[in-house]
Amino acid sequence: MTTGAVATVRGQRSTADLGRTLMHEHVFAVSAALANDRPELAFPDGRAAAIDAAVARLRQVKDAGIDTIVDVTVFGHDRDIPSLVEINERVDLNIVVATGFYTEDLPSKTFEIRQGLARARGGNFYVDVFVADIVDGIGSTGVHAGIIKCVTGPDGVTRGSKGLLRASAIAARETGVPITTHSDPHTRGGLEQLELFAAEGVDLTRVIIGHSGDTTDTDYLKAVMDTGATIASDRFGYDLPGAASTEERVAVIADLCGQGYADRIVVSHDAMLHTDWLDADYVAQHPNWTPTFIPTEVVPTLREAGVSEADLNQILVTTPARLLAAVTKEHRERT
Ligand SMILES: [Zn+2]
Repeated sequence: MTTGAVATVRGQRSTADLGRTLMHEHVFAVSAALANDRPELAFPDGRAAAIDAAVARLRQVKDAGIDTIVDVTVFGHDRDIPSLVEINERVDLNIVVATGFYTEDLPSKTFEIRQGLARARGGNFYVDVFVADIVDGIGSTGVHAGIIKCVTGPDGVTRGSKGLLRASAIAARETGVPITTHSDPHTRGGLEQLELFAAEGVDLTRVIIGHSGDTTDTDYLKAVMDTGATIASDRFGYDLPGAASTEERVAVIADLCGQGYADRIVVSHDAMLHTDWLDADYVAQHPNWTPTFIPTEVVPTLREAGVSEADLNQILVTTPARLLAAVTKEHRERT
């Protein structure tokens, strides 16, 4: 098993110690503007209560046997690292954070304009920001990003998203951290993302194609994994219209494990523990959308569907550790 180091909120950790890992979650996603100007919308019960609730739910995650989560909340998704630091001080869980920009097309005006200015001078603002988050750390928190997130939607790679995907690829090559994506599997969007990453010289075994579990099209999923990439069935419990049900997700994973693909599958919930994106009514419509659903409900169901203990360990422990181990330039030069 490949071991190495990964940056977490509480500092560097050996990937050998990560344990069971959920690869795509969101703890706090709150826009700074709303938090400052309309706090009653960002925090209906107050900020302290939101922090307490996140701590309580993450303690449940830990108690359910999960040791590490990857929080893929990035720019454009209202990342809030100071709150995450505050939360992590009160719960014994490894949290890996991400850099990148969440948008299906153009980023924010700030990023778009700064990129235009940088490009005119031969630079790349996106790459500079992503690499700084990984190498120098985020703000004054001392927390370093350990993964890069990028996005395409049903329209695929657009004029706007192309620059962000390319910048993610360049930053991944430069720093050795993995890439994780938001993709639309119904339009086979993962393959288009992989084509772009391959053209930019990214090692596709370092790429996770997110939201792949929303489809039951195993031919598509195998085509993604045959490139060396990993698929994420990362919306367990989040029953979106048109997406695969829990039963279908379990059946697809069992099928793919039976065909020898267990080493290229990871799982998660895409849970959002506190966010001003959603209101209480919406959250109440998704009772299984909780970050303990996989350890308490899904893992026993995968066992019943015939997934072996070895394959479960591969999906929950070994593959996340392999992906999260940053591949440094020195390491690449040696091998
Ligand atoms: Zn997400």
